[in-house]
Amino acid sequence: MISHRSADFQRLLGECSDQLRRVFRTTQPVLTLTGSGTAGVEASLLSLFEPGKPVITCASGRFGERWQDSADRAAAWLNFTNVRVSRPWGEPISPEDLEAQLRDHPNASVICLVHSETSTATTSDVRELTARARALTPDAMIVVDGVSSIGALPFEMDEWDVDAAVTGSQKALGLPPGLAFVALSPRAIERLRRTAVRPPVYLDLREYLAASDKGLTPYTPAVSLLYALREALGMLLEEGVEARWARTRRLAEATRDAIATMGLQHVSTAPSDAVTAAFYPPGVGDEVRQSCRESHGVELAGGQGPWKGRIFRLSHMGFISERDTLTGLEAIAEALRENNALDPADLDRGLAAAQARLGGTPAGQAG
Ligand code: PLP
Repeated sequence: MISHRSADFQRLLGECSDQLRRVFRTTQPVLTLTGSGTAGVEASLLSLFEPGKPVITCASGRFGERWQDSADRAAAWLNFTNVRVSRPWGEPISPEDLEAQLRDHPNASVICLVHSETSTATTSDVRELTARARALTPDAMIVVDGVSSIGALPFEMDEWDVDAAVTGSQKALGLPPGLAFVALSPRAIERLRRTAVRPPVYLDLREYLAASDKGLTPYTPAVSLLYALREALGMLLEEGVEARWARTRRLAEATRDAIATMGLQHVSTAPSDAVTAAFYPPGVGDEVRQSCRESHGVELAGGQGPWKGRIFRLSHMGFISERDTLTGLEAIAEALRENNALDPADLDRGLAAAQARLGGTPAGQAG
């Protein structure tokens, strides 16, 4: 291990920060926190709010609701109110709902959005939401949870005028868990300088910003993960950020096609390209995931909250390949076939649809 106060570490962090800027599509600082994505979003909310002014938290799934709960808890001790803008699970955040709340709360200090709501495999239109919010409340800080979007879906921090963009290491960047990244706009940096009320030190972005000016982190970072970060981002940039978005999209489109052709029902009205989710057909549940894991070594994600045991989710992020995707679909078809859940001919047609898009043969039929 190298010392996190050494020149070697400064060099490593500097290289990672340059790479991160290219992935976030920003010329602004991208801060590295040791912690998961949740730490990055909470640090953004708690560092950017202004006492006495409302915070607006938007949700249509598990992660947006986490930020609503987090803001509710903080509101009590930091003297602000939290205004929830909610839609049913599976729908995107509605720009009209957000606008209505901003008209009622024109002095909002922070607006929190989830770009890709992983629990419901749903994308909200962050570009549109940000533009509409900016027109009504130009001083509100737009905080975007990009945990399952940045590096997977088109995301343009500077062009869209986002103030704090957050992701974690373990999703689209394809690293082990343990790091969170927060990019800050000039407006957000100015807000940090101006607001006197500060959160506890570990979540105070002012500390990370001050340290990053010296090429350091304020507290002991997960040094070994930064080596992994440099490598993973190097691979992403070698592929090309836009090429990675396009590849992720291709996997998602093939999966959505297969799922619909098999006769499964999508859970989202605005499907994310980072992850696909479908309801189980009547009569089956998480035994499908178990069978995929035990018989095929394929790990599907399950449902959360009200959708626990009712849906499965398939990732397209990071280093998931065409072969992985076809293998995943093959495992799902096999598990559904074993359970007599859907018409076997439709399952075959679904697999063929994915093969036609991805140009391969599923693992079970490979020569
Ligand atoms: N936001 C989204 C959209 C997520 O998908 C996740 C994790 O799955 C989180 C936030 C929380 O991230 P973490 O588990 O890294 O704290």
